[in-house]
Amino acid sequence: MERGEKEPIQVICPKCRYTEIVYLPCEDLPKCPHCDIRMIIAELLDEGKSY
Ligand SMILES: [Zn+2]
Repeated sequence: MERGEKEPIQVICPKCRYTEIVYLPCEDLPKCPHCDIRMIIAELLDEGKSY
């Protein structure tokens, strides 16, 4: 297996729910092409629905 610092994660737009798979070497989250707002990690939606 190859080493890779990049991990594939799913990000989602909190506004229009547009999802996309990105590779993040750091905390640089992409923006939604439709809403032009920063997308969030979809995994966090599953774990933390407290707010
Ligand atoms: Zn959006």
